[in-house]
Amino acid sequence: MSGEFDLIKKYFSRVSAQQAHSRHQQVLLGVADDCALFTCTTGKTIATSKDLLLEGRHFFSDVDPYRLGHKSLAVNLSDLAAMGAKPIACLLGLGLPRLDEAWLSAFADGFYHLSEQFACPLIGGDTTRSDKGIIISVTVFGEVSPPYLMRSQAKEGDVIWVSGELGAAHIALQLLSKAVEAPLAYDEQQLLNSTRGALEQPMPRVLLGQALNGITHAMIDISDGLIQDLGHMLQQSQVSACIYEKQLPVSPLIKSLPLAVIREAVLSGGDVYELCFTAPASKTDNIQQIAKQLAIPITAIGTILPNTSNDKNKLIVLDENNSEINMQYKGFDHFA
Ligand code: ADP
Ligand code: MG
Repeated sequence: MSGEFDLIKKYFSRVSAQQAHSRHQQVLLGVADDCALFTCTTGKTIATSKDLLLEGRHFFSDVDPYRLGHKSLAVNLSDLAAMGAKPIACLLGLGLPRLDEAWLSAFADGFYHLSEQFACPLIGGDTTRSDKGIIISVTVFGEVSPPYLMRSQAKEGDVIWVSGELGAAHIALQLLSKAVEAPLAYDEQQLLNSTRGALEQPMPRVLLGQALNGITHAMIDISDGLIQDLGHMLQQSQVSACIYEKQLPVSPLIKSLPLAVIREAVLSGGDVYELCFTAPASKTDNIQQIAKQLAIPITAIGTILPNTSNDKNKLIVLDENNSEINMQYKGFDHFA
C-alpha cells in the first residue's frame, strides 16, 4: 500500500456509492468526491453530533483495534439515540502516527460491523498523519421530527428511568489504569476480563431512543456518569430530582465489590452509553412494553421534583435507609 489514497480505498470505501444508495435511500454519494451527498426525509430535521477520541486520553494504546473501531462509532450513535434520532450516515476523521495494516483492518471491521447493524453508512472523512498518537473523530447524522427529545423537557412528577446496567465500565477503567503500574492480582484480572467489554465495546441504545421518542419528556445519554449527566438535565429543565440507590441497576459483574466502590462506579462512573429519560407515570406501561419488545432492561430510579426557593436543580440520592448520600461523586470533566 503506497499512501493515503490507497489506504482510504482499501479500508474505508467498503460501502460504494451504489451500495449505499440501494441500502440507504438517503445516501446519494458516499466516499468518492469532494463531498458526500445525502437527503433528509421531507418534514424531518437533521440531528448531528461529533466526538473526538485521543490515544492515551480516551483509549489505551494497546486496546483491541476492532473494539476501538466499534466504540468510535458507538459513542456517536449514542448521542443520536439520546435525541431519538434515526441514523442516516457518518464521517470518520483519522490521524495516524504510522501505517499499520493489521490495526487498520481490525479497526475498519469493528467500525463497519456497527455501522451496518444500525444502517449508518460511512460516507466520507479525512485521513492524515499524526505526530501525537492516534486521533479519531466521528461525525454522525440522523433525522428526527418534533417534539424533540431535549434535555430541557423534564417535568415535575416525571418518573426517571435508566436503561441497562451500571458500573462495569468504570471498574474496568480503574483496573486497566492500575495495570499500567503493576500486574493485576488473579481476582482483579478475572474482574477485568468480565467488565472490559462494557468499557471497550458499548452498545448504543439507538432503537430504544427512537422508540421512546414522542412518549418521554427529556432524555440524555449518561456517558459522563449518571450524576453529572442527570445534573445537566435538571439544570436545563429547571427542576430537581430524587433517586433511590437501592433501585439503581448495578451490573451483576461488580455486585461483590465493597459498597463505596459500587456507589462511585454507579453514580459517577463515565463511559456509560445508556439512556436516562423522564416520562409521566401514566406512560409507565407503554415504556415497559417498548423496552420488553426490544429486550433492553430499563429501571425506574426516581422522580423529578419542583425547584424550591432554597434548592434549585438539586439531585438528592437516598440510600436504603432513606438518608441522603453525600454527593462527592461527580462525573467526568476533562478540565476539572
Ligand atoms: P479532500 O482532498 O477533498 O479532503 P480526500 O482525498 O481527503 O479528499 O478524500 C477522498 C475521499 O475519501 C473523500 O470522499 C473523503 O470523504 C474520503 N475519505 C477520506 N478519509 C476517509 C476516512 N477516514 N473514512 C472515510 N472516508 C474517507
Ligand atoms: Mg481530505
